[in-house]
Amino acid sequence: MTLTGNMLIGQQAITGHREAIRAINPATDLPLEPAYLGGSGEHVEQACTLAWTAFDRYRETSLATRADFLETIAIEIEALGDELIDRAVAETGLPRARIQGERGRTCQQLRTFARTVRAGEWLDVRVDSALPERQPLPRADLRQRQVALGPVAVFGASNFPLAFSVAGGDTASALAAGCPVVVKAHSAHPGTSELVGQAVARAVKKSALPEGVFSLLFGSGREVGIALVSDPRIKAVGFTGSRSGGMALIKAAQSRPEPIPVYAEMSSINPVLLFPAALASRGEALAQGFVASLTQGAGQFCTNPGLVIAHQGPALDAFIKATAALVQRSPAQTMLTPGIFSAYENGVGSLVEHPHAQTLAVGLQGETPNQCQAHLFVTQAGDFLTNAALQAEMFGAASLIVQCASDDEIRKVTEHLEGQLTATLHLDDADMPSARALLPVLERKSGRLLVNGWPTGVEVCDAMVHGGPFPATSDARTTSVGTAAIQRFLRPVCYQDFPDSLLPAALRHGNPLQLRRLLDGQREA
Ligand code: NAP
Repeated sequence: MTLTGNMLIGQQAITGHREAIRAINPATDLPLEPAYLGGSGEHVEQACTLAWTAFDRYRETSLATRADFLETIAIEIEALGDELIDRAVAETGLPRARIQGERGRTCQQLRTFARTVRAGEWLDVRVDSALPERQPLPRADLRQRQVALGPVAVFGASNFPLAFSVAGGDTASALAAGCPVVVKAHSAHPGTSELVGQAVARAVKKSALPEGVFSLLFGSGREVGIALVSDPRIKAVGFTGSRSGGMALIKAAQSRPEPIPVYAEMSSINPVLLFPAALASRGEALAQGFVASLTQGAGQFCTNPGLVIAHQGPALDAFIKATAALVQRSPAQTMLTPGIFSAYENGVGSLVEHPHAQTLAVGLQGETPNQCQAHLFVTQAGDFLTNAALQAEMFGAASLIVQCASDDEIRKVTEHLEGQLTATLHLDDADMPSARALLPVLERKSGRLLVNGWPTGVEVCDAMVHGGPFPATSDARTTSVGTAAIQRFLRPVCYQDFPDSLLPAALRHGNPLQLRRLLDGQREA
């Protein structure tokens, strides 16, 4: 397929008329063809009109039709073959194997949502049968199901050009819920976005769905993004990116005459707690695991371990020594965009200069543009607690070790943290009492707690939580990865005393969809 530089509004290829967006190959700093002329409010209007027109029909498609559609998207993405991989590598600087793996994850994610849609559990059908003889008052027949919220605006993430972009987790979960999607492509990977957008549009056509089920817009966040979030037909937003970007979208969503939910995944430093017995028994192995997790993908993961908290002493000293040696040998890696590289340089630069942070190690220098050198810093608990600059996210392969004098100081540091996507505990049996005592704090702070593992690598499954209190996300009640993500785009509706023929199929007396309902307080087998 030849890249066209066009947006996709339903099935139509539309050329924008705002400033051109051109991908930059971060490994060379050279621009890539074609140019993507940015869209404007007019294009947002067209895409949202189509999405709204499609909504009522799309949300009532059968479970099988919608599941087949998600699977068709996966097939169409796979059919793009090497062209997609080549383009994504060129636009992101990510290694080929990583992009191939990410394509697999993206397609598996779509198929997992297809399975979820087919199973129908997400409809969460509840039936309270009529009790006409009840005294003192009869009870009506009450039936509840979940319905789709409405068209959803999705902002592609820079760091997952496939798995959290045009057909990524936000899009898959919104489509699974029955919501049409309008994507605002990330300007760093427009070609990848166009290829995947074409694949989704082909799947819409093959599935005979209304064209407004999917549109793809290019353009600036401040114009197209804000117009999209402000459009009255958009009923929810999915976003992964910076705290400032997420907050701007939340503000726009809250300022509408009808405020809407924004599911923004923003900023997390993912504390790793190394408990004394674990540190003493396997410090070297912990150093290896930590540096591998820290430097994977140039540290450009939302779950990157940006903070280590541990008791000071000889075991931590040995861990620091081993970790510093590994960081010094870490090759430089190309970052996603010149902007992200420069933000990383500023972030580590401010810690290098900081009077209360000591630079322990710097990775190997890069030879090509935009290469991130891994950084390792250390500070004392007291300084961490009193210096906000030490607590900020450095998006990239940088981490800060906080040395604590006691369990009490570890608790204070942990208690002081903002909301996190993950918190990791490395512990041996002897560490259990200290870990148990800290768990209530960690549960309050994070969406996922790990024991003796590393936070990078997020499984797409039913039990996953990729979420957490602010600023990890804007809504701690949900997850953006895993099948529970569908719930972000649903709301309950209750039908009282409806004649059977007027009820949606999911709620009919004969249970034609064979759903496991909550029937008069009992879960059906
Ligand atoms: P970003 O700057 O937040 O951009 C993400 C999307 O939001 C883009 O489409 C952007 O539009 C839009 N946007 C940004 N600011 C906006 C605003 N004020 N109003 C409306 N739309 C806005 O994120 P990024 O480009 O991916 O990376 C920048 C930084 O974000 C990184 O250095 C890192 O610190 C952080 N980040 C964090 C995560 C995470 O998972 N925690 C992931 C990726 C990035 P434009 O196309 O106009 O830019």
